[in-house]
Amino acid sequence: MKIKNPRTGQYYYEIFPPNFEELKDKTNFMRKSQVAWKELGIEFRIKALQDWKVVVEEYKEELIDALCMDTGRKWETVLEVDLVASSIDRWSSISRDFFSITERKTSSIPFIEIEQDYEPYSLVGVISPWNFPLLLSLIDTIPALLAGCAVIVKPSEITPRFIEVLQKTINQVPDLLGILNYIEGGGEIGAGLCKLTDIICFTGSTETGKKVYQLACDNFIPVFLELGGKDAAIVTETADIERATSAILWGSVANAGQSCLSIERIYVHRNIYHQFLSRLVGKANLLKLAYPTVNSGQIGPIISEKQVVIIDNQLEDAFKKGAVLKTGSMKCEELNGGFYCKATILTNVTHDMKVMTEETFGPILPVMAYNSVEEAIKFANITQYGLSGAVFAGTEEEAMKIARKMKCGTVSINDAALTAVMHEGEKNSFNMSGIGGTRMGPSAIKRFIKQKAYLINGQGAKNPW
Ligand code: NAD
Repeated sequence: MKIKNPRTGQYYYEIFPPNFEELKDKTNFMRKSQVAWKELGIEFRIKALQDWKVVVEEYKEELIDALCMDTGRKWETVLEVDLVASSIDRWSSISRDFFSITERKTSSIPFIEIEQDYEPYSLVGVISPWNFPLLLSLIDTIPALLAGCAVIVKPSEITPRFIEVLQKTINQVPDLLGILNYIEGGGEIGAGLCKLTDIICFTGSTETGKKVYQLACDNFIPVFLELGGKDAAIVTETADIERATSAILWGSVANAGQSCLSIERIYVHRNIYHQFLSRLVGKANLLKLAYPTVNSGQIGPIISEKQVVIIDNQLEDAFKKGAVLKTGSMKCEELNGGFYCKATILTNVTHDMKVMTEETFGPILPVMAYNSVEEAIKFANITQYGLSGAVFAGTEEEAMKIARKMKCGTVSINDAALTAVMHEGEKNSFNMSGIGGTRMGPSAIKRFIKQKAYLINGQGAKNPW
């Protein structure tokens, strides 16, 4: 399978996915290895991950180079690599607290006591997308390992170059042998994992998520789906316009809009609409494409060719139906084989345009005026998605009143896209943005264990029934 460079459009990397039998052998070996991993306990597992953290740090530059080649962007890549260490530390601390406590509790029946225990799932399958290749391959992997599971990870075939480097780091930690493996491959390998593992953590599109759900159902295993979004920002007439325009612009164009939690629709109170728009356009005009080099400008290439087609199609549809371009690109522009899209602000948008209801995954900011808070909330809840959103208002109280009515898992208040940097708030996806327990916050670890209760008749009392 040949891989393209998003900056040049040229193929210059190849991956060699395993066949199903090889995958089966690997997963069988991992299941056997997991038995000791679980038995050796939480402190042993923390130590193994801390050892791995040190090796990852040694390979930092090599990892950044591989990720940069596949994604064509720099600062987001450095952030991804830096987050590995803090994520291992955070989960080490959470899991130590969680797994160290075994206490007996009294029950409502006086002579019966309860002792809680847990059994980790043997083998977790992680399937991840291309927009943050390293971060999203690890976000479920680290807590699953600490919970006592073995984990097999299949990152996206669009950005696979880092796999070789990361597997090198894993191979240098003997305690992770047979416990953590990264494999190359596309959809067929992902589908294979759904048949060979005990639980699936999938991050990707809603379309593929439905297929994964079906496969997991056939295998009768739990599945956690983290899918697409169409996040709305609501700006009330009392909002701080300087703050709102800066935060929304960042939330829309960071990583060239290729984030599930990007702001993709902006609803602004009619009384401040023109003032808001003029500041937003002024700020957007200061941003430059990250071209000709990876260190230039702020907005990198569109990583996946399939996404270029989706963005162009949505823009064409919007313009056909009367949208007005305030600044940015009429369509993605090809520069030396790579495809780029400027920070693009649209007005005169309506909800019959794809750009207002379908996931764009590009740096497009459609702005619409609203007349009342009720109308803004109705607009925000109009799509099939429900991942996250943002509210900007003069007071926290005013913002919270709106946030409580938004049908999504996280709402950033007087800021945007905070889930990109803050993984501590527990949340579920609403509607078609996902299914399953929270991946963020301490209770996320519970996804990887089966809880057991021992009900003990400690006093040997004769039960009355
Ligand atoms: P995608 O659905 O095309 O692919 C995701 C992964 O699924 C890849 O590894 C792919 O190889 C694999 N896959 C494809 N077909 C499969 C099958 N039949 N069975 C099993 N696995 C299969 O998504 P993408 O284009 O890589 O990523 C972009 C999408 O991911 C966007 O919709 C974005 O919103 C979403 N996303 C969601 C979150 C979140 O936390 N909710 C985070 C990042 C990205």
